Amino acid sequence: MRKIVTIFKQLFKGSRQVSHFKTTHTPIIIKREDHCISRNHISQAAIKVLYRLHNSGFAAYLVGGGVRDLLLGHDPKDFDVVTDAHPEQIQRLFKNSFIIGRRFRLVHVRFGNEIIEVATFRGSTEDAKGRVQTQRGLLLRDNVYGTLEDDVWRRDFTINALYYNIADFSVVDYTGGMKDLDQKSIRVIGDPTDRFHEDPARMLRALRFAAKLDFVIEPRTAGPIKKHRELLSHVPPARLFDKILKVFHSGKSFATFQLFHEYNIVSVLFPQMAAALKQPEPLSFLMTALKNTDERVNQDKTINSAFLLAVLLWRPLLAQKEVYKRDEDTNEYQAFNMAMADVVQEQLKIISIPRRFTTVMREIWSLQYHLENARVRRVHKVFHHPRFRAGYDFFGLRYQSGEVVLKELYEWWTEFQEGDEEARSKLISHRFSKAKPRKRKKKRPSSEKSLPGTGQ
Ligand code: ATP
Ligand code: MG
Repeated sequence: MRKIVTIFKQLFKGSRQVSHFKTTHTPIIIKREDHCISRNHISQAAIKVLYRLHNSGFAAYLVGGGVRDLLLGHDPKDFDVVTDAHPEQIQRLFKNSFIIGRRFRLVHVRFGNEIIEVATFRGSTEDAKGRVQTQRGLLLRDNVYGTLEDDVWRRDFTINALYYNIADFSVVDYTGGMKDLDQKSIRVIGDPTDRFHEDPARMLRALRFAAKLDFVIEPRTAGPIKKHRELLSHVPPARLFDKILKVFHSGKSFATFQLFHEYNIVSVLFPQMAAALKQPEPLSFLMTALKNTDERVNQDKTINSAFLLAVLLWRPLLAQKEVYKRDEDTNEYQAFNMAMADVVQEQLKIISIPRRFTTVMREIWSLQYHLENARVRRVHKVFHHPRFRAGYDFFGLRYQSGEVVLKELYEWWTEFQEGDEEARSKLISHRFSKAKPRKRKKKRPSSEKSLPGTGQ
């Protein structure tokens, strides 16, 4: 990295400011000896794809995150290839490939578990044939093919628009991406307001890359994100869910959510949570959960996204429960259940969380009620619930982030889990012998008798 940085300092010394509009057609070509990308750092699968395209007479470049991360000395997550071959031509070259996508058709070439995404150069924005755009500027379909030079201006950020050419191992830079890599800067290609209208998800990408790479979003790009953040509500809810999952799995979810908070994005994506964020304590609840998640990701452990979504909506759930409890005929348990349904339904309007996730979220939440209120005969049922561990961790997180009233109960459940049969019986008798006999006020609703997800 140090090597390319020095070379770039020399290259850019005295050069004019690089324009980010399509005004200049002269790229900077960085020769093999002047950058640090070696074929040894590129996956075998990507190398095969590049060479097969090249040997069949097509242009073939590595582009996007793969090139960016290699130049930064990081290990790329995946490799994207771009070529002048059309999807059908690409498919003919690789028998293990299939065409995907509607908005923009591309080819996935599969090698075992690895998939190499191969795209055809996109055409320039001036060519309207094959492109469908809404009145707001949102791109619905975009199947116009072009040249490398056209493709460059369709990419989102300068640091994502560097092309590694398999023909001569050089890196092609039209937009000043190398300079921005050097300056740790996230810069939109073209006019940021137009580019965010075209695809508002780019705003999330800017924040994600800033957090992932520890880069700064340069002011011309940052301003319009703050101004146009509401555009995110036009991104299809299923796509937003994918983006959020990506953040959870990035190992930088804490830093990304800090940026979401700073840019007021939380109020667009999780409006119910944003209302709760006004108090400092819920923020620490979420931030502790995100920190734990990042640690797990960085240790290659699995993470539970439903758990994080449950954290995000916990405060709104409690607030909504209080609203229902104002009705005298509604008991705690009924209010809790109605509030669970409400907050999920409200959130689904913006981000479509698949049912398999909402089911787990409800189980974790229900367990909060049962961990606090379980009576003697139900303790074992709670303990054997398939989500007990997640529910218990959630309970611990609540306690650690300020709900001190849970201390005794949290310690009790901790000892219960860790103890043997004898220790558990002792814990039960100790805890429940102290309890005063309950006065039966109202008949419990039948739903309270079963635990979520067990049918017990
Ligand atoms: P990651 O490390 O997360 O994979 P990436 O930059 O490779 O980062 P991808 O989603 O894999 O991100 O996209 C590959 C490339 O495609 C990007 O680097 C960028 O050049 C281009 N791209 C992706 N999404 C967009 C978008 N919404 N608008 C414009 N260009 C995009
Ligand atoms: Mg990528």
